[in-house]
Amino acid sequence: TENTKVTVVGLGPMGRAMAAAYLDAGYEVTVWNRSAGKDAELVARGARSVADIAAAVAASPLVVLSLIDVEAMYGTLGDTDLTGRVLANLSSDLPDKARAAARWAEERGASYLTGGVNVPPTGIGQEGSSIFISGPRAVYDEHRTALDLLAATDYRGADPGYAQLYYQLNMILFWTAYTGWYQAVAVARANGLTASDILPYAGYTADTMRGFYTGSAALVDADDHRGEEERLTMCAASVEHILHTAADSGVDTTILAAHAELYRRGVDAGFGAESSSRLIGLLAAEAA
Ligand code: NDP
Repeated sequence: TENTKVTVVGLGPMGRAMAAAYLDAGYEVTVWNRSAGKDAELVARGARSVADIAAAVAASPLVVLSLIDVEAMYGTLGDTDLTGRVLANLSSDLPDKARAAARWAEERGASYLTGGVNVPPTGIGQEGSSIFISGPRAVYDEHRTALDLLAATDYRGADPGYAQLYYQLNMILFWTAYTGWYQAVAVARANGLTASDILPYAGYTADTMRGFYTGSAALVDADDHRGEEERLTMCAASVEHILHTAADSGVDTTILAAHAELYRRGVDAGFGAESSSRLIGLLAAEAA
């Protein structure tokens, strides 16, 4: 039926995993990719290969896009007739790019959903995986079943930018933490330790982060920065210690120096006796 037809445009690792999940679920799957050859395995499993993007879009009411970024959609779809199609662009990009893409699609008679995928390709179709979705509620409701097959959808509202906003917020947490891991491993190695040596302690620290976020959120939202147990002067001293441990180990200090500078600025601004959450205000002021 029309409800179990889907087109997947973009067959990188992510798009291939998505098309495979639809095949597993018994959907009629049409696939298309800019360069040839990436659909071979999917076609062998029953996916339909088509000659051009117009045929791919025409094949199914729901067109899932998984491209390098949201903007790659423009060149990919070109002047293809999109009337009445639902585009679910699950490529990562900036919130404003998603909003512009939604306007572009709607001007061409299509409906548009934005998605931010929270898992690697191996997580597609797996229990516990999630994907942020935003866009018109009615369009989401109509295609929710198909999108939930990829990963449990977490609807973030009508603003097409919101799925990407939530995605990017998670990515801020992810990349800073992952870079922190690389920084720690570099310092460990400079001191004759391996990544495996420090893994148990890294795992413990990662596990404690939830507790820090949880303890902080309500206080930050209430603008309560009293910091009875963690004063900014103590935090700034600790951050100086990580900077100098790296420096003494002969490891690059670019990232840690930026860190230390921020904490110093907080102390200089007179927040030394308060919580390090005062830094949020300093960071926000920076953007203003
Ligand atoms: P890829 O970079 O492998 O996706 C490549 C796809 O984008 C291919 O179809 C490629 O076509 C197409 N493409 C690349 N550049 C252009 C361009 N300039 N114009 C048109 N099409 C282009 O990425 P993934 O499959 O890994 O990921 C797809 C999306 O999913 C990304 O937005 C990514 O951020 C997101 N994502 C990926 C995760 C992952 O772990 N892989 C995790 C979470 C999200 P061609 O084959 O012709 O080059």
